[in-house]
This record gives sequence, C-alpha cells and structure tokens, in this order.
Amino acid sequence: MEQIYTFGSYLKNKFGCKVYKVGINISGFTCPNIDGTVAKGGCTFCENDSFSASTGQTQELKGFYLNLNSKTNPNLDKQLKQLEMQFNAISKRQREEYGAEKFIVYFQSFTNTYAPFETLKALYEKALSFDNVVGLSIGTRSDSITEETLEYLAKLNLTKEIWIEFGIQSVYDETLKKINRGHNSANIKEWILKAKAKGLNVCGHLIFGLPDETQEMMLETAREAYEWGIDSVKYHPLYVVKKTALANDFLRGAFTPITEDIYLHVLIKSLLMKPSNVSVQRVTAGIDDSSLLAPDWCRDKKSQIKKINMALKPLKLKY
Ligand code: SF4
Repeated sequence: MEQIYTFGSYLKNKFGCKVYKVGINISGFTCPNIDGTVAKGGCTFCENDSFSASTGQTQELKGFYLNLNSKTNPNLDKQLKQLEMQFNAISKRQREEYGAEKFIVYFQSFTNTYAPFETLKALYEKALSFDNVVGLSIGTRSDSITEETLEYLAKLNLTKEIWIEFGIQSVYDETLKKINRGHNSANIKEWILKAKAKGLNVCGHLIFGLPDETQEMMLETAREAYEWGIDSVKYHPLYVVKKTALANDFLRGAFTPITEDIYLHVLIKSLLMKPSNVSVQRVTAGIDDSSLLAPDWCRDKKSQIKKINMALKPLKLKY
C-alpha cells in the first residue's frame, strides 16, 4: 500500500520530527465578504453569525473589527496576548497527547491578512518568537492580501516556513457568484501565481459539491489549482449548517448536497490527478453537532476516512 503524500509527512521529512499546526483565532479579524466591503453575509455556506467569531475569547473585544484601511489598532496588545494564550494552551496539548515537537502557527479564522500591515507584522513576528515554532500558515482570501504583505512574507520565508492558504473553492465564476464569494477566479489565480513567484508555499482549499456543479467541473477546479502550482491541498465536501444562506436554499429545496458516493468518486480522481509533490492536508470535512443540517454522512469523520481508504484500497493507496 502506498501512502498518499500528506502534509504531515512533508513536515516530518523537512524538519525531522513531528510538526503540528496550531490553529489560532484572533479577535478583530473579520472578512471583506462579511463586513460589507465586497459583500454582506459572507459566503452562503459560512456560519459567521453575520459578523462575529463565536468563541468565548472573542467576546472580550465584541464590536472591534479591523480591515485593510484601519488607521489605528487600540487592541493590538490584547490580540498579542490572545495569540500567546491560545498558542500555549494548544501546543501544550499537542505536545502531551500527540508528541508534537515543533509547531506552525496557523492563523485560521476569517481572513488573516485583512488588517493594517503593522498589526499583521506584530502578530506574525510574535507567533514566530514562540519556542519551537518553525513557521506560519495564514488563511486568507485572494482579494485581501496586499503586495506589501506578500513581499514581507516572502522575506520571512527565507528563514522560516511560510504558507498562505487561499480559498479557491471553484474555478467557475458562475459558482463563485452563486455562493456569494465576492471575487472571481481570475483574482485567485493572479494572487496564487504572485505568491508562488515570490517563493511562498501555497495551500489551496477546494470544495466539491458546490451548487449546480457537475463532477467534471469539480475535477476541472482541481486540475487548474494543480496547474497554478499549489504546494498543498485541502479537499472539502460542501455541507450545510444552520443559520446560513445555504441552509435557507437547502430547506426550500433549492440546494441538494453532494452524496458520499459522488464525493468519493471525485476525491479519488482528484488524488490520482494530483502532482506527486503536492501534499494533502485534508480529504474531507464535517461537523458532529446539532448545527449540521445535511448531508448526514458529513457527521462522522471516522467513517468518512474509513470509506475513503476502502475506495483507495483497490488502487493500492491509503490515506
Ligand atoms: S471568505 Fe471565509 S470567512 Fe469570509 S465569508 Fe467566505 S467562508 Fe466566511
């Protein structure tokens, strides 16, 4: 059985030990697709409570949101403290439970380049100053990163491991419109190519099962994303959570979620098409709580992975 090339093995080869991503959620970060800059309400599948992250820690700074043009940031010290507290708590657990030795700080929630440059710089540098941190992974949208930030990250990348995670989702503009994405596919391609030209590492997020997409369209998205030179990939099925625009579409019968069989089929084909140097960070997604409306198969991650491995077995592959 040949193991699919995972991000974990990429990191292990590179750093010679177990490296874990530490997911961080900083108050004050939002998204131009939520705050009205490009759209309101966010992507139709995004549970953003219209405007806020729903963690206890973010309550402290309720009503505080940054964007690319914010002139001041009165809460930078609090954000830095939050970063440190989250990093310490999560990395401790990863060390104790999984034997993690080194870490990549993953700025995960919302759009993590959507703040004034000085704020980003302070947060990224603080994250890189923690013990055993070898790099950063920064989740963002292609319409929310500036040349200045890209240039700065490219410099950091000379001595650290810097990743940018772009939501690609689909290469079809009609689909991006349907999900209220707020930018088109040309914009994603442009910024991925720019990041790659500066030597940065890029992870692309893909969603299978977007409204009205055929299997051919999903595979074309994967094919183009590989062609743009992404270094790593996350595949997700589109699932419906309550309190989203997609939930309304689903409840009135205007959206049908992807079946597990079709998802498996598209996923396996995408894995087979994938260039061998592209590492895989995620092969599925779901949520096991009462917020999930559909499809039900997205509730049980273990069973999903089991089925993915069953589908890979005849190909002598495993995840
Ligand atoms: S870009 Fe991300 S954070 Fe913004 S609305 Fe879409 S899914 Fe939500």
